Amino acid sequence: MQNKMILPPSVIGIIGGGQLGMMLAHEAKRMGYKVITLDPVPDCPCAQVCDHQIVADFEDKHKALELAEKSQILTYEFENVPFRTVSFLEEKGFAVHPFSRVLKITQDRVKEKEFLRSIGVPTTEFKALQDCSDLKKHVSKLGLPAMIKTTRGGYDGKGQVFLKNPEDLSDTEEKMFSQKGAHKWIWESFVPFKKEISVICARDAQGNTSVFPVSENIHINSILHMTIAPARISAKAEKSAYRIASKVINALKAVGVIGVEMFLTEEDDVLVNEIAPRVHNSGHYSIQACLTSQFDQHIRMICGLPHGSTRMLSAAAMINILGDDTAKEDSVLAGIEKALKLEGVTLHLYGKKSVRPGRKMGHITVLSNNREKAIETAKRAKELLYWSQ
Ligand code: AMP
Repeated sequence: MQNKMILPPSVIGIIGGGQLGMMLAHEAKRMGYKVITLDPVPDCPCAQVCDHQIVADFEDKHKALELAEKSQILTYEFENVPFRTVSFLEEKGFAVHPFSRVLKITQDRVKEKEFLRSIGVPTTEFKALQDCSDLKKHVSKLGLPAMIKTTRGGYDGKGQVFLKNPEDLSDTEEKMFSQKGAHKWIWESFVPFKKEISVICARDAQGNTSVFPVSENIHINSILHMTIAPARISAKAEKSAYRIASKVINALKAVGVIGVEMFLTEEDDVLVNEIAPRVHNSGHYSIQACLTSQFDQHIRMICGLPHGSTRMLSAAAMINILGDDTAKEDSVLAGIEKALKLEGVTLHLYGKKSVRPGRKMGHITVLSNNREKAIETAKRAKELLYWSQ
């Protein structure tokens, strides 16, 4: 258990330098910390705001050790950071939050669901698949529709196929079982949810927890499109979501912030879909809308500082800005001046060098005391933004 406070100007080492690392670094720098990131891409988003970047592959233990030796505390910003790298650093005596045992569970969809079941948290029905004959067996036994996913490495809908009809079976087999590098698969029954929601929660080394307001998440093509906070759900569903998220983070004994993604059924039952052992896209609204942002809270947790209040100052809607088919590699975002004329709009761009379809390039957050107005304004602002050559 870590009791020691790590105070500014100590050095925080972040494995991964994407937008989540960038927003963590923003908060850490504001608080007076020094930040070093390790990422294979030179001048990655986090490198643009932190003190130093170690350009290296995530598998490079030698470079990971260099990061650890230069830092007082370590964290990571994406769930697919190699378990081997994090556990190696722990074996060498360095503190990494959340601990590698959290990664071990969350990096494997089967282990994750087994863990959730073992602590009494509901999930969708699932079955580990070894190969396509397994799939045929279960499809006839367990029925359709279903989601077939790789157990490891998937994110934003990558590595998964929606299987609706038995006729699509051979197509699915071809797509899933011919994938290079994928070794195992999971069959999940399709949840006809009425909403997707998430809870961002935080835990310190003493076991105290805090939760951010439940958010409502709308996905397009399995990628988060919009987050609305607070979620438009019943008091009963909200209570279940908080209870489940707290149970999950306590059982994981994670130190830091994690995101718990959930499905809400027509009957108001809450099932956990996935655990993200890191700050989460659906918590970006907290930068403007809460007294303490999820990034601030994560820095507080890993440095042994007190929980900040997660109280909301205003309702919020967040929309992701993705690369799309209209964009070229070197496109720039246009329409900003019009979008920013709308009341309550804040723009975040992540400084990624090339625009690609589906790539998360930035987001906008809109605050309003009227939640529906925040949603409408966010939609209008998004419509005004486009990629230009
Ligand atoms: P995931 O990578 O598991 O977070 O899945 C990405 C998105 O796909 C989710 O946010 C849902 O919109 C959808 N999805 C994934 N699994 C299921 C499921 N078992 N039932 C219904 N929708 C799902």
